[in-house]
Amino acid sequence: MIRTRIAPSPTGTDIHIGNLYTAYLNWTLAKKHGGKFIVRIEDTDRTRRIEGSEEKILSTLNAFGLTPDESVEVGGKFGPYRQSERLDIYKKYSKILLDNGSAYLCTCSRTRLETVREDMKVNKQIPKYDKYCLSRQEAIKKEIENGKEHVVRLNVPEDEDVIFQDIIRGEVKINTGNLDDQVLMKSDGYPTYHLAVVIDDYLMKISHVIRAEEWISSTPKHILIYKAFGWELPKFAHVPILRNPDKSKLSKRKNPVWASWYLEQGFLPSAVLNYLALMGWSHPEGKEIFDADEFAEVFTLERIQPVGPVFDVKKLEWMNGQYIMKLEISNLKFLISNFYKDKNLDPNILEKSIPLVRERLKKLNEYLDIAGFLFEKPSSYEKDFSGEKELLKKVADKLESLESWKADEIGNLMQDFATSENIPFGKFFMMLRVVLSGKKITPPLNDSMEILGKEECIARIKNVI
Ligand code: GLU
Repeated sequence: MIRTRIAPSPTGTDIHIGNLYTAYLNWTLAKKHGGKFIVRIEDTDRTRRIEGSEEKILSTLNAFGLTPDESVEVGGKFGPYRQSERLDIYKKYSKILLDNGSAYLCTCSRTRLETVREDMKVNKQIPKYDKYCLSRQEAIKKEIENGKEHVVRLNVPEDEDVIFQDIIRGEVKINTGNLDDQVLMKSDGYPTYHLAVVIDDYLMKISHVIRAEEWISSTPKHILIYKAFGWELPKFAHVPILRNPDKSKLSKRKNPVWASWYLEQGFLPSAVLNYLALMGWSHPEGKEIFDADEFAEVFTLERIQPVGPVFDVKKLEWMNGQYIMKLEISNLKFLISNFYKDKNLDPNILEKSIPLVRERLKKLNEYLDIAGFLFEKPSSYEKDFSGEKELLKKVADKLESLESWKADEIGNLMQDFATSENIPFGKFFMMLRVVLSGKKITPPLNDSMEILGKEECIARIKNVI
């Protein structure tokens, strides 16, 4: 049984786009094998918790269709799925490690810890805890009985190679000499990430730990904890971190990082996921456009390249445009009216406008920029009309005389009129376009005029006059 998970910490405004990427891979692998995708909330760092973050992360995942099979919302056999509700479990398991000598109590003060690290740095050693408390366990128990604050530390062996196979990176080896005696339980009674992640991945029967490469240096510590419990390891895959086009790490300063930002801009979830699928992975047939079902069919973790893939919003815009272009009119109509919910767009105009705008729309939020004039009179004009008022009066009269208000006929009439007035088409239609829309660039003018209707066109011309 394939069981994958993401384990977001509610420490940000929303789920990071990089974590959405990791989520998509986890979700896909589970789906491919008829397995389960779990969302566990890792909220043990009480100082970094942000109110509302958990709810936002979960709702964004749902909005992208990455719905979990088990989570705080939908429940499941292996709950609770929020770490702050599992404190008893961590306590119980940390006691097992204390009892079998894999962990020990430590009451060192912050000042002592800092001094030790500083001294080590001066002596050009890797700064880490010096195991001072390890030999004083009996004394420490007394100190704790008298109310002294304490932590539980992992007793890292002195000189041992920790080796694991990463599905994407191959063999990873690190000597324990480089590892600190990691704190497992903090003085506030909460576990650290390292202890909780191992216990939960084990108890929740996670088969594949697929997470960002930034966690790879933590994995050897986790392996020591698995070994200390005598537990079998899950499979590990550390996926590359997304980069800006300049190769720097995707960060708030250079790129929008919150996944819901992309929805607010009118990117389609399916297009964003398709784009994310191509981060460090390529379709065996070289395809660029494929949906989640197809991705699940052909995806393998082994095919992911470990080097930092570039997340380029411009490329994503192109892909989003491809998705929009392929949508049925009725679907696009639904998406646009939903996107502009509070504007209550006239559904008739909206429907008629779609064939005119579909090809040029890259994101839903561009729709009103392009087609807004079909719903509302222009409030400003990109050109002035002094000297053209007489001409405009004649245009209005001409249009008034037209009986069948169809794009082609409007076009023919206006061409004949421009010819008879000896005005170059370019100049004439530019004037008319700005009169009707306020703008110099619009969807095809004749079709737009048909949608606007005779009365409205004439009213807009008179308005300018
Ligand atoms: N809580 C960690 C995070 O916020 C989870 C890392 C992991 O997947 O093990 O990303």
